Amino acid sequence: MIYLDAAATTAVRREVLEAMWPYLTGEFGNPSSHHTLGKSAADALAVARASVAKDLGCRASEVTFTGGGTEADNLAIKGIALAQPRGKHIVTTAIEHEAVLESCDYLQRIHGFEITILSVDRYGMVDLGQVSAAIRPDTTLVTVMLANNEVGTIQPIAEIAAVARKLGVPAHTDAVQGAGALDLNIATLGVDALSLSGHKIGAPKGIGVLFAKGRLQLEPVMHGGGQERGKRSGTENVAGAVGLATALRLASQDRAERMARLTEVRDELIHGVLSAVPTAILTGHPQKRLPGSASFCFPGTSGEAVLLYLEERGIVCSSGSACAAGSDEPSHVLVAMGVEPAVAQTAVRFTLTEGTTLDEIRDVVSAVRNGVDDVRAIAR
Ligand code: PLP
Repeated sequence: MIYLDAAATTAVRREVLEAMWPYLTGEFGNPSSHHTLGKSAADALAVARASVAKDLGCRASEVTFTGGGTEADNLAIKGIALAQPRGKHIVTTAIEHEAVLESCDYLQRIHGFEITILSVDRYGMVDLGQVSAAIRPDTTLVTVMLANNEVGTIQPIAEIAAVARKLGVPAHTDAVQGAGALDLNIATLGVDALSLSGHKIGAPKGIGVLFAKGRLQLEPVMHGGGQERGKRSGTENVAGAVGLATALRLASQDRAERMARLTEVRDELIHGVLSAVPTAILTGHPQKRLPGSASFCFPGTSGEAVLLYLEERGIVCSSGSACAAGSDEPSHVLVAMGVEPAVAQTAVRFTLTEGTTLDEIRDVVSAVRNGVDDVRAIAR
């Protein structure tokens, strides 16, 4: 199988599994227990937290483990919105993940917030001027994703956060797709809150992180035993936290070299597909895109049909975001970028792993050429 769906999820890395193993077996204690088994789990959690904090360049007390990226986004957005006294207005963008958009929608429906949803250009890029113009005296939060899951466009988060900071508004970024590929240093990004997910970087599903700056007030979403300094009640996923910390550590080693190689392989795919299928449209920003991300529209086909053709030949990719897969709705991201809904239905997303080889890319390009021809011939 050629797996080109890394933005949907990744396999757990061996080193990650090995680091987790003790906390799933012999050292299975509950960190809240007062006996030695509990103490050992609490220590492992503290080490994992310190390691994540080191990689993000923040304090350990600013790291909250969550049940994944969706939960981290929910906690950031609802938590900041419901705790902040500034007012009931949030600024976000049309290309955010559902975890962000639906959290905003909830605040609008149930708590009377007003949400400004910024548009993007044809590359999926947010305009800085629009961010600053949208901020009002009652704006409580600006939330813009670091990199898009469908088209890979990377936003100027440091600049966006600087605009928000100047106007006294906290900035949150969903960095779920940026993790592993981009610098997540908090001081460089300048954000007040940042969400991560383990399963995009070789840790298991169901573990995530919310960085929230020390002075930021956060109303918990999950109520209970007061774990995670009261920010996220529920018995901690110790093994998951150890796994996420290990994966993040590994992802930061030689990142520049590894990402340069990934970009080279990805560019082979882009050039290969664009020359094999001259009518193909590359979506997302031509340069400011995630190293492993290449997404296209193939007018005259159906993305789902091309996907099926490729899967029958052992190539696994996605027709958009995994969450939207199975629905007939065109991708909200592509529509926001001005792609005609009928063309958006022809989208296919390839997201490479670091193990993807040039030989595999050659096979994929030839299968894409044949698949597009085949699907077009049937559609005629
Ligand atoms: N945010 C983005 C940009 C994502 O791509 C995803 C997952 O696809 C999420 C949030 C949700 O993360 P999780 O699957 O850990 O809930």
